[in-house]
Amino acid sequence: MHGARGTMTSAERLAIAAGIVCSNIERTPVAKPVSKGRHNWHGACFTIVAGLISAKFMLRSAFYTGLVTLGVPALMRRWRAAGVILCYHNVLPPRNARVVGDAGVHLSFERFAEQVHWLVRRYAIVPLAELVARLRGAQRLRGTAALTFDDGYDGVFAHAWPLLHDLRVPATVFVVADRPDRRDAFWWDHPDLARHTAPPDRERWLTELKGDAQSITSALSLATPAGFPASHRPAGWDAIAAAAAGGGLEIGVHSATHRTLTRLDDGEFEREIVASREAIRVRAGVEPVLFAYPYGIWDARVRDAVRKAGYHGAVTLDYGLVGARHDPWALPRVNVPASISSAAFQAWAAGLHPRRGQARSG
Ligand SMILES: [Zn+2]
Repeated sequence: MHGARGTMTSAERLAIAAGIVCSNIERTPVAKPVSKGRHNWHGACFTIVAGLISAKFMLRSAFYTGLVTLGVPALMRRWRAAGVILCYHNVLPPRNARVVGDAGVHLSFERFAEQVHWLVRRYAIVPLAELVARLRGAQRLRGTAALTFDDGYDGVFAHAWPLLHDLRVPATVFVVADRPDRRDAFWWDHPDLARHTAPPDRERWLTELKGDAQSITSALSLATPAGFPASHRPAGWDAIAAAAAGGGLEIGVHSATHRTLTRLDDGEFEREIVASREAIRVRAGVEPVLFAYPYGIWDARVRDAVRKAGYHGAVTLDYGLVGARHDPWALPRVNVPASISSAAFQAWAAGLHPRRGQARSG
């Protein structure tokens, strides 16, 4: 077991050093015009090194603390000609003590504020649309970061955005077009879901049940519980429109219903990709130009539909930084789980993640 700094074995130190070397020579991310979506190719070098270090250890904070102590993330930020798109979901009220919903997506305000202040000192934080424009124009990406929030939670508008606005930090919120009118809990936040968290269940929900909230909640007999916190619900149109009107906050499209797009036919794309954009344009008073794939799941057919609909770019949940050769309609991101340590956050943002290419729910 490796509980703290200073307890690493020589073999582990060697493995970390080898990992650093391999990361530094790792390939530039390659555009994937045809992809199976969630399962990226893993760099052979990184995989070999990862195999030398136990998965358990790789995930422990000692690994990331060691990297930060050695200055590796800082080196990588300066070295790699790539930008980073961070993916958040919700931000809780300050001093929130109540634990509700999917623990991975509801980030404490204090941890979020710490991350933002750290980012402001080290990155040029630009609107995602600008990062996409730089990519398409073959302009500099090194040292740039963009902040994104999936699902349009009320907590983002009530707690995250006021902080970002005060700091003049731009951000993009991807809204599920059908949700601001309903404002009931997303299925993955239901308190009773803990009884159904086996991986095969979740896989079946996203495939056979198409990630469809109605199908999943009826299959599990779930209903939004009374007293569910406002911050955990989708924001209403008033909050979305007011924030968007103030400048600096970009609204993107996260489909109409948050279903698994790869499981839908072309006819349903009209509602999910085209009509959803029009609904957000009318209700939020903005012109969305960016799309986020629900659950991060996409394939070539979905990607082409989004491109043909006129979007300037689209984001996945495939892990990675954005380099010059990336496909603007299949951009990787760095998902920020609510429990992440500050050392792991710094390492992941610099492209140092041992389990590359994994998607996250949401
Ligand atoms: Zn989502």
